[in-house]
Amino acid sequence: MQKTTDYYLHAKQIFSETGIVNEHFILVENGQVSRLTKEVNDGIPVVELGNLRVLPGFLDLHIHGREGCDIMDAKRESIDKISNSLAKHGVVGFLGTTVTSTWDNTLAAFAAIGEAYQNQPRGAQVLGAYNEGLFFTEDHKGAHDEKYFLPLTLANIDAIIDAAQGALKVMALAPELPNSDEVIRYLVSKGVRPMLGHTNADFQQTCDALHAGACGGVHVFNGMKGIHHRDPGTAGAVLLDKDAYVEVIADGIHLHPAILEMIYRLKGDKKMGLISDCIVAGGLNDGTYRLGMLDVNVVDGVARTEGGSLAGSTLTLERAILNLITLAKVPPLEAVHMASLIPACFLGVDDTLGSISAGKRACFAIVNDEFQVQGTIVDGRLAFATEVLAERFSNLI
Ligand SMILES: [Zn+2]
Repeated sequence: MQKTTDYYLHAKQIFSETGIVNEHFILVENGQVSRLTKEVNDGIPVVELGNLRVLPGFLDLHIHGREGCDIMDAKRESIDKISNSLAKHGVVGFLGTTVTSTWDNTLAAFAAIGEAYQNQPRGAQVLGAYNEGLFFTEDHKGAHDEKYFLPLTLANIDAIIDAAQGALKVMALAPELPNSDEVIRYLVSKGVRPMLGHTNADFQQTCDALHAGACGGVHVFNGMKGIHHRDPGTAGAVLLDKDAYVEVIADGIHLHPAILEMIYRLKGDKKMGLISDCIVAGGLNDGTYRLGMLDVNVVDGVARTEGGSLAGSTLTLERAILNLITLAKVPPLEAVHMASLIPACFLGVDDTLGSISAGKRACFAIVNDEFQVQGTIVDGRLAFATEVLAERFSNLI
C-alpha cells in the first residue's frame, strides 16, 4: 500500500462510532484514524469537506458482481472491476460471493478470490469469499440451478476451503440436507460462518441448525419459508433467535417497508446487516444478463429469472441506507452502521473496520445530504472521488 500524507478531514457531520458529531476534524495518520477533535493548530493539512458528511466505509458481505463482471468469471480483472465499481458507492470491503455453477467453475472462482485476498485490489478490499451455491434444496432455489446441487459432505467443504486459500468466510447451506449438523460444526471449527438460505427448513430444523452453530439467515425472508402463524418457518426462527444475524436486502422490492421495520424492531442495530446481493447488471442498463447458469431479465433495475424469481439485485449500499431511513424509520447512524459496523462484527473485523474510531483503519464514505457517495477513502487513500472532491485532496494523496 502506498504511503499517504497525514491530514485532517473537516466536515459538517461525522458519523463516529459513538454518535454523530458536527463540525469536527478527523486526524488520519498512516492510514489510520488517530483522533476526532474540535480544533486544530498543529500545521497538519486540513481537507475541507464543507457540507458533506463522513461515514464509516461500507462493507458489502454478499455481492456477486457489478458493471458486467461477475465473481463467477473467476478472473482477476473481474474482481478488480467489481472492487472499483463498489468504491464508487462507498464500499471499502466486500466478500466475493459465488452462485451455483459447475464444480470446476466454483473452485476456480474461489481460487481467484483467494488470490485477490492475498494481493488486494485498489478499490474496495476483498475481505474474503462467500459460498452461496451448491448446498441448497429446490423449493426456494431462487437463481440457483438445481442441476448443479451437490451433497453436503465434508469432502466438498474441504475442497472449497482449500481452493479459497484461507479466504472462505461464509458458507450458505440448507439445513434440511443430510449431514448438516456435522457440517455446521465443522465449518465453525474452521472459522467459517455457516448461514442458512435457499432452504425449505421448518422452524424446528432452523432452530436445531442455529443450536449447532449456524450464524443466521441469508437475505432473510427471500429463499426461505416465511412466517405463518402456525408455521413460523426459517424466517421466524432466525428473527426470534436473538443471537442470529440476518442479511437484509433493503431495495424496497425484496422486502416490504413494513417488514424492514419489523426486522429492525426485532433485531435492533446489532444483528441486522445490509447486503446488496448485487449481480453483474449493477451499474448497467436494463437487459438480459447471466447469473450463474441462468439468464436473468432486469426491468426497472429489478432482476428476475425466466421463472419469475427475484435473482439478486442492482442495489447499492448507499441506496439501501437511504431506504432504511426513509422507508423503515431507522435512525441515520444505526442505518449507516448496518452497512458498516454490524457486518464488521459479524465478520470479526470490527477491531480495525466498520466505524470511525481512534485506532481503526481510515476507511470512509463521504456523502452529501441525500447519502449519495462523493468520495471513498481506503486506508487513508482516495479510492474514488467526484471531480470536485478530488480537487480538495489534490495536494495530498
Ligand atoms: Zn441468494
